[in-house]
Amino acid sequence: MNHHPPQCRQPCETRAQCNAVVQSVQIFHNESMGWPDIGYNFLIGGDGNVYEGRGWNNMGAHAAEWNPYSIGISFLGNYNWDTLEPNMISAAQQLLNDAVNRGQLSSGYILYGHRQVSATECPGTHIWNEIRGWSHWSG
Ligand SMILES: [Zn+2]
Repeated sequence: MNHHPPQCRQPCETRAQCNAVVQSVQIFHNESMGWPDIGYNFLIGGDGNVYEGRGWNNMGAHAAEWNPYSIGISFLGNYNWDTLEPNMISAAQQLLNDAVNRGQLSSGYILYGHRQVSATECPGTHIWNEIRGWSHWSG
């Protein structure tokens, strides 16, 4: 089953909207996927905030055999259409830097888009084009 619920593809602009989207993702992953929590470690909202899914110390459920070795970050919205705002980009980059500072990622970590490890068009084109320019991305 596709673990990207329709709710996940809804963009949000305010903290209240993003909170509501995150909660609906939690309900979907919980009730439809049977997972104990949101499958991603973190989610990034259009308001530029990072929302905690499983957080740092619980393995994600987003990427099959990669889960034990990865941190899953989801951008709320559908980036085949929506434009990735600068505040979302800097939130993601700060999160990744934070992960290295906390020792959660090694300084030589490798960045992959979901489509590189699973049969999915995720992340949407706009994110895909963005992250391919980041220094840790690997083709
Ligand atoms: Zn994905």
